[in-house]
Formats: sequence, structure tokens, C-alpha cells
Amino acid sequence: MLDASQYYFNKAADVLNLGDRIREILITPRRVVKVEVVTEDDAGELIHYRGFRTQHNNSRGPYKGGLRYHPSMDEDHASALAALMTWKTAIVGVPFGGAKGGIDCDPHTLSKTELNRVTRTFVERVKEIIGPTLDIPAPDVNTNAEVMGWIMDEYSRDYGFSPGVVTGKPVDLFGSLGRDEATGRGVMYALREALKDQGKGFADVTVAIQGFGNVGSHAASLIAEQGGKIVAVADRLGAVENKEGLDVPALVDWAAEHGTVNGFSGGAPFNGPDVITWPADVLIPAALEDAITEENAPDVRASLIVEGANGPTTPKADEILLDRGVVTVPDILANAGGVTVSYFEWAQNIQQFRWELDRVNGELEKMMVRAYAAVREVANEKSVDLRTAAFVLGIRRVGRAALARQPVRETIIFD
Ligand code: GLU
Repeated sequence: MLDASQYYFNKAADVLNLGDRIREILITPRRVVKVEVVTEDDAGELIHYRGFRTQHNNSRGPYKGGLRYHPSMDEDHASALAALMTWKTAIVGVPFGGAKGGIDCDPHTLSKTELNRVTRTFVERVKEIIGPTLDIPAPDVNTNAEVMGWIMDEYSRDYGFSPGVVTGKPVDLFGSLGRDEATGRGVMYALREALKDQGKGFADVTVAIQGFGNVGSHAASLIAEQGGKIVAVADRLGAVENKEGLDVPALVDWAAEHGTVNGFSGGAPFNGPDVITWPADVLIPAALEDAITEENAPDVRASLIVEGANGPTTPKADEILLDRGVVTVPDILANAGGVTVSYFEWAQNIQQFRWELDRVNGELEKMMVRAYAAVREVANEKSVDLRTAAFVLGIRRVGRAALARQPVRETIIFD
């Protein structure tokens, strides 16, 4: 994972002709924290996890990024994902840097009270390095509004009322309207803009989606609302397809009740991993990293990939897809809707003023459209693919801010 994010970074740094010293400075995280999370399970036995927070870069503002609860969480994942956040916040133009963290637990095996204790213990361990103007966590894989609410509560016990310490909170507890669906909504806008580039609209395409969590399910609903046909969906427990298009609202209800799309009667089951090579015009990987690899990339049948997940495509797969002419809207652009509405939430918290949903969605749309256009412009200017262009744009903006803070003569190196 770390290798992949460094590979894409270096590819863009080559385009910018950056020297080794600047590369080293930009890629190295500013702070990497690892903590022990020791608490009790419901039976009173000790449970023990490791927690992580990497603060990659804060040249453009406070560190920002999600918390992931997953057994694969480790220092490398936190650092690679933190760097992606640095470029993402710069591309979409929100005044934050990049961070990421989490705990190596599997929340599916924990009760709610256990999850609450694990979360509060983690906050206790990292409270000195987070804060509304320092580092602002948010949801990521297997964390949600409820967990963010606990983080705000735990932090506020020590530091007083601090809603701006974390985003993605419940709407009843200083969260923003529209935050829950924001990443999926941003994916929908990214897809719309990419289709426009090809002279197409939603009604012209079929879509396959890997993952039906926060990102995949909202993206599916919003794309279907716009007239796109969702023909295949896979999650970690099952998969369902329907050539005529799945009834997405019914699928969302089914998944909410059963915790999976598996068993949904509005389509036929299929082998989940095959979703990557499904015969659909558009593929949306919205699960974990390394979903598209050198093994399955030659068989991808979509002509357009919109990355809802972070890091779903390995560098080797990316090369294969580029050779084959498959267009990818990269993660750091396509899934930036989440952190964009996190910014709106943070701004509302600071101002103690609530925005209406229409305003949130309208501003999100503007920022996604602007970010897509800016990346497209760099792609044209430098004759590179959208991923390389997105990295170039992110590195340029971060690099300029970093150097503007110093009495150096080198600011023009980021052209
Ligand atoms: N975890 C999300 C991401 O990867 C959101 C981060 C945030 O809102 O800070 O972009």
C-alpha cells in the first residue's frame, strides 16, 4: 500500500521534475504515532489492540483524515492513506492537510459497548495530538457517525465543548446534513463529469460496484436516481446482479436489514470477486485497497473506473489499464466529496451555524466540478492520465504552500 502511494507520487514528481530532496520532504510524514489500546470486553477480560495516527503534512491547514477500524490497519496503511489525504484536500481545495489512522480491531466481532470503550481509550491515547485546529479525524472503513460522536464526547471531557475536533458526527450532535452520503454523492458527480468528457450521460451506461458500505450504497442510490443502471453489486459477504438494472432502493433496504446484499431476491447471486471484471461500462471499486491487480486488470471490461475506495488499484494494474485505454478517475479526486463536506461540517461547528441540505449539496457539487476541471486541465497541459494529473495538482498546491512558509527562493519549482 505504501509502495503504491509512493509510486504514484514519484510518477507525478517526475512530471514536475522535482529533485530528490523536495521529494523526500514531501513524502515523509511529519508525525507517526502508535498507541496501545487496552480495555475490557463485556465479560471483564482484557482486550488489546494497536492504534495508529499518521500526520503526513499540514502545510495547507490542520491535519485531516479518517479513522479506520480493520485488522489490516498498521503503520504503513496509516502513512500511505495519510499521504493520499494530503493530495486529496489540496485537489478539492479545502484548507486542511492530510492524516489517517485507526485501530487494528474488527468491529464486527465487538459489541457496541466494547467498541465504545475501545474508541474512548484510543482518544485518551491520542488526545494531545488531535484538536479542532490541529488534527481532525473523520469516519473511514468500519467507523461511522456514532463512533465520531463518542470521539467528540471523550475529547470534550478533557478540553471542554469541542464539536470541531471530529467530523462525520451524528446530525443530532453537531454533524452536518448531507455528510453521511457526501462521499457517494461526490463519486456520482465525478462520474457525471467524466461521462460528459466522453459525450455521455448516466442513461447511456451500466455500472458495477464493489462494496456496499457508506460509499458504495450512496453512490449506487444517487447514480440510479440520475438514470444510471446498476447491474452488479458485491460486498464482502455476497453479490447480486441484474442485467435490467437492480432496484437500488429495495437493495439498500435489504442490506440495511441483513448487513449484506447477499440473498437479495431482485437479482441473481454471483461470485463477488468477479465484480471487477463484470460486463458493465463503469466500474466503481468502493471497498478496500488493492482490488484491481495485475491478475484481474487485463480482464476489466469497463471503459471507465471511478475510485470510491482509497488505493483500490495497484501500480501494475494501473499500467495495464492505461495501456488498454481504460480511463480512471482516481481516488484522490473521485472520493473527495467526504472530506469536502467534512470541511463544511467543521466550518459550521466553528461558526455555530447550521447549513441547509441544499446549500451543502450545492457547494459540494461546485467543489467537485471545479476539482475535476482543474485535474482535467493539468492532464491536458502535461499530456498525462487523470491520476498523474491529480497527483501533480495536489503536489503543486502543497509544495507551494510549504515553500511559501519558508524564506526560500525555490517557489517556481512547482510549475
Ligand atoms: N475517510 C474519508 C476519506 O478517505 C473522509 C476523510 C475526512 O472527512 O476527513 O476521504
